[in-house]
Amino acid sequence: MAEQHKHQSVQEQSPRSLSGVKHIIAIGSGKGGVGKSTVAVNLAVALAKTGAKVGVMDADIYGPSQPGMLGAGTEQPHIEGDMIIPMNRHGISFMSLGILMDEDKPVIWRAPIATRMIQQFIENVKWGDLDYLLVDLPPGTGDVQITLAQQARLTGAVIVTTPQQVALGVAKKGLQMFAQVKVPILGIIENMSGFVCPHCGKETAIFKSGGGKQMAETYGVNFLGGIPIDPELMASGDDGVPLMEKKANSPTVTAFAALAERFREVVAQGVAVQTAEPETMALSGDGNVIVTWKDQPSVTISARELRVNCPCAGCVDEESGQRTLDPMRVTLGITIGAINRVGRYGVNFQFSDGHNTGIYGYDYLQELGRRKNDASKQSFNV
Ligand code: ADP
Repeated sequence: MAEQHKHQSVQEQSPRSLSGVKHIIAIGSGKGGVGKSTVAVNLAVALAKTGAKVGVMDADIYGPSQPGMLGAGTEQPHIEGDMIIPMNRHGISFMSLGILMDEDKPVIWRAPIATRMIQQFIENVKWGDLDYLLVDLPPGTGDVQITLAQQARLTGAVIVTTPQQVALGVAKKGLQMFAQVKVPILGIIENMSGFVCPHCGKETAIFKSGGGKQMAETYGVNFLGGIPIDPELMASGDDGVPLMEKKANSPTVTAFAALAERFREVVAQGVAVQTAEPETMALSGDGNVIVTWKDQPSVTISARELRVNCPCAGCVDEESGQRTLDPMRVTLGITIGAINRVGRYGVNFQFSDGHNTGIYGYDYLQELGRRKNDASKQSFNV
């Protein structure tokens, strides 16, 4: 009964274009140039070789390199009605934001466009039935990542790093960003792990390898595998034929095959993420919110309490954290018309004054519920 209650008023965001996709996985990195796109493309081909249906969405606006890596050049995708049909290359479905973007526009203009485009990508690309959709993100921790985490229900994220990036502490930023928006970290891949001599097969750690594994241990996440430095891997990126497609056997091909195997295992097992997600959440008849967390009695948080404590940038100064919304401006009779789920980590409310930009993380909602409880205990004691 309680479960039924929850689904009555919290609307799931599951765009029709992604309904046939079993797992959406973000591929991120702390900084550019670590080989994230190279790894994403070859991992996709390695997964396809195991019989899985795989798609790759290149959302890296700063260096959309995948059309080149997959030999798609400047080819434009087909449009069917309002849907974009992904291209098919080397057994994988593929779309790139870069293809749709004006290359002459400076990057500073591209970022806000990309945020809107990523939303369009989620809604308007006809991915069909896929086992895995890998989303190659721009490096860093910007808006594109957050939009994706909010709009698509990600199975998880994979962080690609190099030994140097671990040493510089850059890789952990990507990890922390995903943790903040409650996207489970499926694991870490260490690229450019070492160099395997093509003549004698001896491996040399040109940069101190093992950092990825150590980082995984430090943060309690999976280490998915290491990919060696391989001039052939670099050349294959320029040729438009991924190494996994080009070569039947080499230490790098073996490493990608092992990586695909481990990736499948980890995705199948799933990674739990600590969220304060309520057991039930529903609207009361008078437009307030009734929330229940595990093993706790339900608490009703009034629409006005929620509106006054809206965490959006229009109501709180982002720099100072000071509330800019004057509570006196929020009417006593304000109500909530709808609750929408945002990614895995929170909800958004449609208030009767038209406001709907705040994202209430579950932790924050729990805090508001606690305050409400404390306030009612105090008034009871008086
Ligand atoms: P990112 O997506 O992180 O910006 P790319 O995938 O574009 O990085 O790779 C950056 C450069 O490094 C490319 O020239 C690519 O061919 C090369 N590269 C990536 N991984 C390897 C590797 N394991 N061995 C050799 N070169 C690599």
